[in-house]
Amino acid sequence: MRCQECDQGETRTGMTTVPIQLLNAIILVKGVPSDICDACGKFFVDVTTSHELLRIAQEAADRGDDVTDYRTEAEE
Ligand SMILES: [Zn+2]
Repeated sequence: MRCQECDQGETRTGMTTVPIQLLNAIILVKGVPSDICDACGKFFVDVTTSHELLRIAQEAADRGDDVTDYRTEAEE
């Protein structure tokens, strides 16, 4: 898929680390499935994944963690 950010590179499916900004913390979520541009490095996550990211980041913040792994309910 052509990158929507730079219109130069092609995106490839991979894993990335995404910082999620919460009200009073920034949580790093690792191993997030995403499409990553091979030219500019911009990553794209789908709507379902971004909703999961918010939930996972909030859970990590509640535990007092600032780094966590991406996991969906189905995999737990
Ligand atoms: Zn790009």
